[in-house]
Amino acid sequence: MSSSAPVVRSVVDDTSGEVLRDIPLPPYVTGEDAQFAVRAVVVHAPRRWSGGTICRNDASPHPCRLHRWGRRVLTLRGLPSAEIDALIERGDPAATPPYRPGA
Ligand SMILES: [Zn+2]
Repeated sequence: MSSSAPVVRSVVDDTSGEVLRDIPLPPYVTGEDAQFAVRAVVVHAPRRWSGGTICRNDASPHPCRLHRWGRRVLTLRGLPSAEIDALIERGDPAATPPYRPGA
């Protein structure tokens, strides 16, 4: 397993322009991407703060870029939102996301 984050994967697809400054999604979601995504949403979990909800990891307003990326990857992987929330609640960055092909 590579230690490099999927976010560094080269992206030449700039067709979406400046609409969303989010981290690009992988062209297709592999098991490894899904694993990264679980880690991203768990590590970048929301934390309640006096000023609102922030990312536990980088203190950006929640959801931060990585959290959004992880959630979108897991959604592409076929996970319903509730299941992603359950993963975040469990708080295990090494959890194996269930694979729902075609969901
Ligand atoms: Zn974050």
